Parts: sequence; structure tokens; C-alpha cells
Amino acid sequence: MKTDFDAVIVGAGFAGMYMLYRLRKLGLTVRVIEKADDVGGTWYWNRYPGARCDIESIQYSYSFSDELQQEWNWSERYATQSEILSYANHVVEKLSLRSDMQFGSTVETTVFDETAYHWNIGIRSGEIREFLTCRFCIMATGCLSTPNEPVVPGLEQFAGSVYHTADWPDTSVDFRNQRVAVLGTGSSGIQTAVALAAVAEHLTVFQRTPNYVVPDANHAFESEQLARVKADYPAIRAQAKLCRNGVAQEIVALSALEVSQTERNRRYQERWDKGGLTFIGAFSDLILDAAANKTVADFVREKIRTIVQDPATAKLLSPTSTFGCKRLCVSSSYYSIFNRENVALVDTSAGVDEISERGLIVAGQEYPADSIVLATGFDAMTGTLNRIRIVGKQGEALKNRWNEGPTGYLGLMISGFPNLFTITGPGSPSVLSNVLMSIEYHVNWISDCLKFMSDRKFQVIEPRTQAEDEWADEVASIVDNTLYRTCNSWYLGVNVPGKPKKFMPYPGVPSYESRCSSIAKNNYVGFDFS
Ligand code: FAD
Ligand code: NAP
Repeated sequence: MKTDFDAVIVGAGFAGMYMLYRLRKLGLTVRVIEKADDVGGTWYWNRYPGARCDIESIQYSYSFSDELQQEWNWSERYATQSEILSYANHVVEKLSLRSDMQFGSTVETTVFDETAYHWNIGIRSGEIREFLTCRFCIMATGCLSTPNEPVVPGLEQFAGSVYHTADWPDTSVDFRNQRVAVLGTGSSGIQTAVALAAVAEHLTVFQRTPNYVVPDANHAFESEQLARVKADYPAIRAQAKLCRNGVAQEIVALSALEVSQTERNRRYQERWDKGGLTFIGAFSDLILDAAANKTVADFVREKIRTIVQDPATAKLLSPTSTFGCKRLCVSSSYYSIFNRENVALVDTSAGVDEISERGLIVAGQEYPADSIVLATGFDAMTGTLNRIRIVGKQGEALKNRWNEGPTGYLGLMISGFPNLFTITGPGSPSVLSNVLMSIEYHVNWISDCLKFMSDRKFQVIEPRTQAEDEWADEVASIVDNTLYRTCNSWYLGVNVPGKPKKFMPYPGVPSYESRCSSIAKNNYVGFDFS
């Protein structure tokens, strides 16, 4: 039966944009459905002050078109949200993608029709509801696209303004002469706090758990510097493919415990000065071995004591958890804002009692505020998919299937949900990698798979449950060899009350890509075609 489109892509972030480009090249008819009023995904929604990437822009950018990477000029080592959004718009214009995109439209349901073997997509655009049919449904809905709204009693009675970093207004907010409260100290919270410390009359940072923050050493690009990078692009991209997190860096095959403390600290200092997430690559075993990990945690705690003048504040800012177990934060200025007169840190490890009309109450003390910024993160990886009613074969809802945590094969497909793909889905490196690189890998893999199907006149692809079970075991055994299970991170889902506890991403870009490519080469072993 003829469908309205060959494929529907949900989401117009970097994943949806590139997927559309590739599917057009295959000659498919495609419609992209996007909730927001424009492209950019993460970079459309997260407009909070200080928002920028934490993987260098020269790497956090598409690699599929050399023309694109040569013509675009990043102004800083880590571009701001607005520059990344301009880049997304530039790509969309250059590749003329907009004509196949529908904005301001939310996909509410996707139901598989087992008789016609197609997907029915239910879409709401304001008051208007429409249905589309398609053979392939591709979820480009993002891993970090559903804000985690904290359950704090009294929030609705607060008389001032409340903002969530992940749903920031697109008009500028003036925080001058304001007392601002920032709740949350993950990457969003620390970036917001650094930006607001410089403008707000007073800033109070409410911290439940301290995070490790390494310097970014951000700088503007000189044109000669950028020219050098552009000339090196092939080597940089190739090196990234060999690195665990998909970020090009020197690969160190040395344990932190193999060298003297002096040599260890010299190496840490070198990376500290250089700045960036590659700090964790100083030794090969920092996220694998607890004793090695302690050496780097001690180094950073010592840095905090050196930077922060008040010893009690320094102590409160010092994490006791495994270094790198939660995503590292990156900022050269965060710790030093606590030396300012207008900045205070409040410990909420025992909870926030309540939010009153005037501010936050913690341990019986009220902290007055004119605005509250919720930097409380995301219902990551599964939250956005679970908010769509996805119904597969025999009327089974994906949300029910994922009752005890997500399952699937390669993070790309789920048994019982034929022809439905998830870009950067659970069970793939996604958030443990340079996400743009993982997006490109998945989009290329899906495009090649659809070409394989079309060449053989296959209509339907679905993974086997046995392949899924084996994949789950494989991912679990890789995670078990790391220290990732030793803290309460959003990778495990524990940041959202009631969410099942399961480690969701796959650590290790090179091994993941090698597995997926070999599966494709072997006629997509683990998948059934019909
Ligand atoms: P998204 O950009 O999240 O796009 C998904 C889109 O789907 C959204 O526009 C959303 O509106 C839409 N959507 C969702 N559900 C529906 C629905 N039901 N109907 C219609 N539309 C829907 N990663 C890095 O590797 N490096 C970084 O430096 C980095 N910095 C980050 C900074 C911030 C503040 C955040 C929040 C994340 C960051 N990330 C970073 C991760 C980032 O999410 C990815 O890098 C990347 O942008 C994800 O692209 P995406 O297209 O997969 O998803
Ligand atoms: P996050 O890392 O989950 O941090 C959320 C913060 O809010 C944590 O400090 C958390 O405390 C706190 N929190 C959550 N619920 C709370 C509650 N009910 N009461 C009090 N505190 C609460 O979220 P995020 O900062 O938005 O970052 C998420 C991910 O997005 C990052 O890890 C990164 O991958 C990406 N990101 C990247 C950048 C960048 O630099 N490029 C910027 C922003 C985001 P606990 O730690 O105790 O749970």
C-alpha cells in the first residue's frame, strides 16, 4: 500500500538534519516533524546564559562534507549556543533542507499497522491533529531533549520568575539588579552560574552534589590557527575514530599507577593547562581502576582548595565520588566565582525544604530571590521516546517494553518495532562520545541499511530478540569493567524519581563502531528482513 512518505524523521536537531540529507540522496520521500519552531534541537532550546559546547567546535561539527568544514569559521575553541545555532541554520540553508521540514508540530503517537506494514504517525500542531503514514520511522529525538522538572514543594507559589535552562526564552533576560538562585550544578548549572555571577546583583548556587569541573582554556581563534586546523581535518577526524570518546587526542596507554606521583601530577598539570574533556585521557585507566581514579580526584580536589579562598566553601565544592563517573563539567572560571562577594553556595544534599513566595528554604533558612533558574537536567535517553505513544506489533507499547529500562539491538532498533530506528539510542555510545560523530555514524549506518534493503527488495527489517539479549549482555559486561556504576548519574537514570535504574550508553566508540560495521558487512546478522 502506498504511504504518504517513505520515511518520517522525528526531530530537526543535528541528527534529523543529516538523516534527511542522506535519505534524499537515496531518493526517498521524507518529512521531518519538529516540535520547535526551527532547527537546532539542543541548540534551539538551551539558550541559557553561558551555554556553549564542551567538545571543541572543530570536532563538534559535521565531518560528512569537507566543503562545509572548510567554509565554516568557528570564532572560539568552544562555540556559544548562538554560534552553534547559526551553524545549524547555515547547514540547513546550504543543503536546502527546510522544504521537507514541518515545525511547531509534535509527534504524539506512532502506531505500527501490521496489515499494511507501515507506521501511522499522529501529529499535533496547536489545535490541529493530522496523521501521516510512512514505511520507515526514524527517531531523531535526542538523548537530552526532555527537561527534568524537579519536584520541590511550593515552586508554584514563588512570586518571581522561574526558568529552566533547557527551555529558555528566546528573548534576552536581564538579570542585572536581581538576586538569582541557580538550582543544580551539572554542566548547565555551572555554565549559567559563571555567566550570572558577572551580571546579577547576587547569585546563590544551590548544590545537591558537587561535580568535578576541569578548565576549558577557551580562546578566540586566530585565522592562522583555524587554517592549520582545517588543513589537518582529515587527520583529526581519523584520530577521533580511534579514541574512546570520539574526541581526537593523543592515546595514552599508561596506567596512572605505573608512574611516580611527581610524573603523574606533571601530566595532570599539563592537561589541566591545556583544558578540556581530554583531561580524563591523561592515563588509560582513570575510569577503569579505583586506585588510579583516586589519584586524579585528589589532584582536582587540591586544585579546588587552591582556587577557592574560603576553606568551608572549597570543601563543599569538592566531590567525593568517582572522577568522570558523572559527565565532567568544563569551565576555567567556575571555582573562582565563589571568591566573589556577590556569590554564595548552599548545600541542598539534605533536600530543599520548600520554595516560598520569596525564595528557597533550605535547612529552615530562607534565601530570597527574584528569579530561580532550574538547571536540573534531563529525563535523558528514554524520556523523550517514552513521551510518544509508540506502539509496535501486537499492540505492544514501547513504554511498557521499557518498564525496567531500555532494551534494543545496537541502540538502533527494537524487536517488535519493525522499520523504526533510534539515532543515538540507548545501548550506543551517544552521550559518552562526541555526539555529533555518533549521530553521523548512526545516520550513515541506517542509510546503508536502507540501501541494502532496497537493492534486495526487502520491505521490513526487525532485530531478533536473541540478538538484543546478547547485545544487552555485551554492553553490561563492558560497563562492568568500568567505574560508571559507582555514582548516581543520569546515565543510570537515577536523577529522575521512579525511573528504572539501568546504565544506558555504551562506553567506547571504536569497539562499538567496529561491531556495528562488521554486523552490517555480514548481511546484518541479528536482523530479520522480509
Ligand atoms: P536534539 O538536538 O536534542 O534534537 C532533537 C529534536 O527532536 C528537538 O529539537 C526536539 O524538539 C525534537 N523532538 C523531540 N520529541 C519530539 C516529538 N515528539 N515531536 C517532534 N519533535 C520532537 N554533545 C556533545 O557531543 N558535545 C557538546 O559539547 C554538547 N553540549 C551540549 C550542551 C547542552 C546544553 C546540552 C543539553 C547537550 C549537549 N550535548 C553535547 C548533547 C547534544 O544533545 C548533542 O550533541 C546533539 O545536539 C543532539 O542532537 P540530536 O539531533 O540527536 O538531538
Ligand atoms: P545534570 O548533569 O543532570 O545536572 C543536574 C543538576 O541538578 C545536578 O546537580 C543535580 O544534582 C541537580 N538536581 C536535579 N534535580 C534536583 C532536585 N530535585 N533538587 C536539587 N537538585 C537537583 O544536567 P545538566 O547540567 O543539564 O547536564 C546534562 C548533560 O547535558 C551534561 O551531562 C552534558 O552531557 C550535557 N550538557 C553539556 C554542556 C556543555 O558544557 N556543553 C552544557 C549543558 C549540558 P545531583 O547531581 O545530586 O543529581
